[in-house]
Amino acid sequence: MTRVQVDRERCISSGVCEHVAPAVFELDDDGVLQVLQAEPDDPAAAAEAVRGCPSGALSFS
Ligand code: SF4
Repeated sequence: MTRVQVDRERCISSGVCEHVAPAVFELDDDGVLQVLQAEPDDPAAAAEAVRGCPSGALSFS
């Protein structure tokens, strides 16, 4: 199973991933990205979010 990884040192809290895949990603009140589904129900949406991250903070393992 594919797992989503976040490098919080690189994340700039742009919110792109949350917009593309809101079931998987959520920025908390402090702007820290939370992964709601480490193993996404919709891998295609998660993959689009990974590609769209402007800081390269997202990856799959
Ligand atoms: S798209 Fe990338 S930089 Fe933006 S909130 Fe998500 S992980 Fe962070």
